[in-house]
Amino acid sequence: MTEIRSHTTIDLTTENNTEQQIMKILILNCGSSSIKYKMYDMGGQAVLAAGGIEKIGSQGAFLKTKSPVAEKTFYEIPDHNTGVEIVLKALTDPEKGCIKSLEEINAVGQRIVHGGPFSASTILTPEIFAEWKKYLALAPVHSGVQAKCIEAVQAHLPQVPQVAIFDTAFHQTIPEHAYLSSLPYEYYEKYGIRRYGFHGTSFRYVLQQSAKVLGFNPTEKKLIICHIGNGISISAVKGGQCIDTTMGMMPNEGPMMGTRTGDLDPSSLLYLMEKEHLTTQQATDIINKKSGLLGISGKTNDMREVIELAENGDEKALLAFKMYNYRLKKYIGAYAAILGGVDYIIFTAGVGENQPPVRKGCLEGLEFIGVKLDQDKNEKIYGQETVISTPDSKVTVAVIPTDEELMMAEDAMRLISAK
Ligand code: ADP
Repeated sequence: MTEIRSHTTIDLTTENNTEQQIMKILILNCGSSSIKYKMYDMGGQAVLAAGGIEKIGSQGAFLKTKSPVAEKTFYEIPDHNTGVEIVLKALTDPEKGCIKSLEEINAVGQRIVHGGPFSASTILTPEIFAEWKKYLALAPVHSGVQAKCIEAVQAHLPQVPQVAIFDTAFHQTIPEHAYLSSLPYEYYEKYGIRRYGFHGTSFRYVLQQSAKVLGFNPTEKKLIICHIGNGISISAVKGGQCIDTTMGMMPNEGPMMGTRTGDLDPSSLLYLMEKEHLTTQQATDIINKKSGLLGISGKTNDMREVIELAENGDEKALLAFKMYNYRLKKYIGAYAAILGGVDYIIFTAGVGENQPPVRKGCLEGLEFIGVKLDQDKNEKIYGQETVISTPDSKVTVAVIPTDEELMMAEDAMRLISAK
């Protein structure tokens, strides 16, 4: 498949869209039953409003706003279109909103989980939207609702340009020998089966921020960036470009995650399907929602709870914790090998930023590649931009909290301003 690096031809209907005037950017992150949003004033780099809708299509659907006011309101939200409508109403609420009218919104940035061959964020012209829709089959659940959200915004805010920010784009630099699967080549040609990678917006932000905070030129360095949240991706970055990442065609390959298996012998799944007479949907649920920390501990997918249980003698939780760290370490070692050494290991996302025992657990024994963790510092760091290796460590280990929404807002701002 060919790479698509498209940058728009839409004619914006608002006049004089100079950088100074493009200030208010709404960021939407639409999931299968949720819509998270953040409204930025890019002039002052301020978050004007944040919140989200959950349980779309189910009973008990609600809007939970975090700012300007924190509250939870229940609504009937049968679909994403209604969800978008409720978000827009909340933003313009005369008492609790952050803007007086929808006309104040200069652009909407949409997080797109699967961008197929798109290699950069882009303004969504009708042509680009149609092109992207050709790849819906690659992530039917996510892309289907994201298409609906794009259409809903188009319907409610027809004058406002939308920017698509693809989670897969950062990984389009991965070379063929690393992105191809070893299935017969014809299936790549016929169905686009290959590694796409995910969490790309987070990686982009963390790479940029690490370079700024730690003072290095990314084109000269080798990095392993560990995005460890409920979902996990590790990326190998060389010369400022991603050369490999752990997630594959779908967000499941790689280390063991909160509820996802990560790497799995494909034959074991086929065997299980046969033995338990599972449908494709049931098997999909097992590998995505019932495995990982949850599957092994039998109790929780939340690392805080896993650690607490393990400390209180729960053997399955301890086993889950060990497996988790072991598999992270395997990838760190593998990526040090393909990079030919490593200058920086960066931790980010929920667990990476806030769980010292995991950072310690997955780096233990890696002194031979030049990693010396400052144990005291590691224990004290929760969600701060900090170096946690010793001054004489050959590899600099750091925590850099991610900010995907800010990255998205910056992309939207840059693209719209360029017009
Ligand atoms: P997602 O992939 O859903 O965005 P997150 O990045 O929020 O997930 O990560 C969720 C995981 O991070 C959970 O296992 C949770 O235990 C852990 N985590 C998140 N925040 C904290 C925190 N403040 N302290 C400790 N652990 C945290």
